[in-house]
Amino acid sequence: MIQIAGLHKSFDGLHVLNGIDLFVEKGKTAVIIGPSGSGKTTLLRCLNLLEMPEQGTLSIAKIGIAFSGNHRIDQTVVKAIRKQTGMVFQSYNLFPHLTALENIMEGQVIVLKRPKAEARERAVALLSKVGLRERADMYPHQLSGGQQQRVGIARAMAMDPGVLLFDEPTSALDPELVGDVLLVMKGLAHEGMTMVVVTHEMGFARDVADQVVFMDQGVIVEKGTPEDIFEHAQNERTLQFLKKIR
Ligand code: ATP
Repeated sequence: MIQIAGLHKSFDGLHVLNGIDLFVEKGKTAVIIGPSGSGKTTLLRCLNLLEMPEQGTLSIAKIGIAFSGNHRIDQTVVKAIRKQTGMVFQSYNLFPHLTALENIMEGQVIVLKRPKAEARERAVALLSKVGLRERADMYPHQLSGGQQQRVGIARAMAMDPGVLLFDEPTSALDPELVGDVLLVMKGLAHEGMTMVVVTHEMGFARDVADQVVFMDQGVIVEKGTPEDIFEHAQNERTLQFLKKIR
């Protein structure tokens, strides 16, 4: 479903991604862990082209793209990749002037050109799925952070992406609200959604990931099953990181 090879990205001379290779099979969940500043968010943003890599290749849902320096990227390919990748942000990014229901309808109507009745029906079904059916008419400021994030997930799902990308989806939440969001994500993983999740929630990585990817200083140092990484890490940098967070 997702295939990346030799991906490079820098900001003002700072080499943030230094040759990333990654493969995520359809229906599987990859969890990216690593110290602050290691390039996790940048990698995720490169997957839906919120950041443009400078070198390497990326393929999502069989849509392929090759990056080389200043070479112009075909915008129809960019659009097609963005359509396949739903993003869930740390800070929810809901539209404050729209209700929960309207937030989930908006992209369906504007971007996918779905009839309003159909978009509403889908939004209601998704709100039920994330346990917020009765909050449909509330505005973001009337919802807790955890509820807003669950609306954010429903909004991303409403666009029927092939892949869901999560950028530290629970980092901004009070600890007691984290569980409900992780439960929704776990449900999606079990239903066979393809997901890439950047998180500091090691319990989630252990329970839900098919593949755990450890990044440090712009490279993937080690990747494998949760057991490979959490019980049998081989690399000294992985071991040091895990020791610090335990
Ligand atoms: P954290 O866990 O703290 O979120 P991270 O592993 O997700 O960290 P990134 O956010 O990808 O790391 O950042 C990697 C490096 O790239 C950092 O040094 C950061 O300052 C730099 N960086 C990221 N985005 C930009 C940008 N738009 N402009 C300049 N530098 C950036």
